[in-house]
Amino acid sequence: MSGDIATVAELGSWVRDFATRIDEAKQYLTELDSAIGDADHGINMARGMQAVVEKLDADAPDTVEALFKNVGMTLVSTVGGASGPLYGTFFLRFGMVSGEIEELSGPDFAKALRAGLEGVVVRGKAEAGDKTMFDALEPAVTALDKALGEGARLGDALVEAATAAESGRDATIPLVARKGRASYLGERSAGHQDPGATSSAILIRSAASTLG
Ligand code: ADP
Ligand code: MG
Repeated sequence: MSGDIATVAELGSWVRDFATRIDEAKQYLTELDSAIGDADHGINMARGMQAVVEKLDADAPDTVEALFKNVGMTLVSTVGGASGPLYGTFFLRFGMVSGEIEELSGPDFAKALRAGLEGVVVRGKAEAGDKTMFDALEPAVTALDKALGEGARLGDALVEAATAAESGRDATIPLVARKGRASYLGERSAGHQDPGATSSAILIRSAASTLG
């Protein structure tokens, strides 16, 4: 792509690349979730993204809304646990706010990402520092807005967003979880990286690689 615009086909490549990266990280994500959860985050996400890819193989949607509606609905229906509805809502909102269009400009992409994050918040009520995927996604959204505001192209702004997501992911390590299964551990959740923040950082890094 030119670095300014992401077409539906390129957004589809992002989704597929995310599926590949999740599959590669499956065991690692599950190990993270075994420390502070129930050891299923990698399996959950890999199963869901595998189903998404099969859906896209069967029928490639031609608008941004249709693409992400497809992704979101598939995740909601195939992934159990907290992450299915959370990621499902993220992608549904991402598509819904974009509408029946065939490409996203930088500002369009930023608006969609923010809408996705807001969907996660509506669904899971997470706030900054709760040790969840919010802690990777929110810094990414903020960094994307900032970079675009300074005139960066979408591809370059996404690199900033990915770095911010990875910092946010790392910053979950010392936190005590206040949402989700990890919160049952209380203080014992500190010292472990949050699995959902880890998969979310993978999502944004994947966007930076495929849309850059
Ligand atoms: P489960 O906890 O049901 O086993 P997963 O293991 O697939 O689901 O996903 C766990 C991840 O979900 C956590 O690491 C966290 O990032 C995220 N998560 C859990 N609850 C919430 C919430 N209320 N808001 C945002 N993210 C959450
Ligand atoms: Mg789990």
